Amino acid sequence: MSDLVIPAPTVPTIPVAGGGAFPVRRVYCIGRNFAAHAIEMGHDPDREPPFFFQKNPNNLDASGEFPYPPHSNDVHHEVELLVALKSGGTGIKVADALDHVYGYAPCLDMTRRDLQGQAKKTGRPWEIGKAFERSGPVGPLQPVSETGHMDAGRIALSVNGTITQDGNLNQMIWKVPEMIAYLSEYFELAAGDVIMAGTPSGVGPVERGDTMLVQIDGLTDLTVKVT
Ligand code: MN
Repeated sequence: MSDLVIPAPTVPTIPVAGGGAFPVRRVYCIGRNFAAHAIEMGHDPDREPPFFFQKNPNNLDASGEFPYPPHSNDVHHEVELLVALKSGGTGIKVADALDHVYGYAPCLDMTRRDLQGQAKKTGRPWEIGKAFERSGPVGPLQPVSETGHMDAGRIALSVNGTITQDGNLNQMIWKVPEMIAYLSEYFELAAGDVIMAGTPSGVGPVERGDTMLVQIDGLTDLTVKVT
């Protein structure tokens, strides 16, 4: 018998290719992890310590639709690799970090760029620009047993058939094991945590009716319609 005083919220999940669902506990997102994107956003691409923000687990959405959010006229796509953890802990060593990875998925870190820009200017948190409803379109998760670990390979986004972002995972300033190790110094990581690994250059606006196509070498393509 449960003593919950309201019905328990549903645990958000990401579908797994081949069947099953991966329950999501936390969503960490790295900022400026590709030098060319840092430069396009007006920042120095030097290897400073990484920084992270969070989305909410239930912002992830595998429906293939992205409803254009309210209160923004400048919603940008950011194509990213999602890293899903099957275990965690604190003080994880870089050399051991990949042992905690369950698999990988294509995803988008959709961003209300105008509201994020205002937040940056006023020193306020980013949630209003980053952690809104359905702001994390995601494709099926593929187990590492199928994909191997993903440290190189093309990561690209096209909008209505035109390539807008075109990078390579080997351009990531902070590699997947380094991100896991770094996060585990500040947070207790656990099974169900996911990391959005940063976006290459070429971010830009979408409009209702657009079709976004995410292509990451070794993963199934993800198509998302802006509605
Ligand atoms: Mn991002």
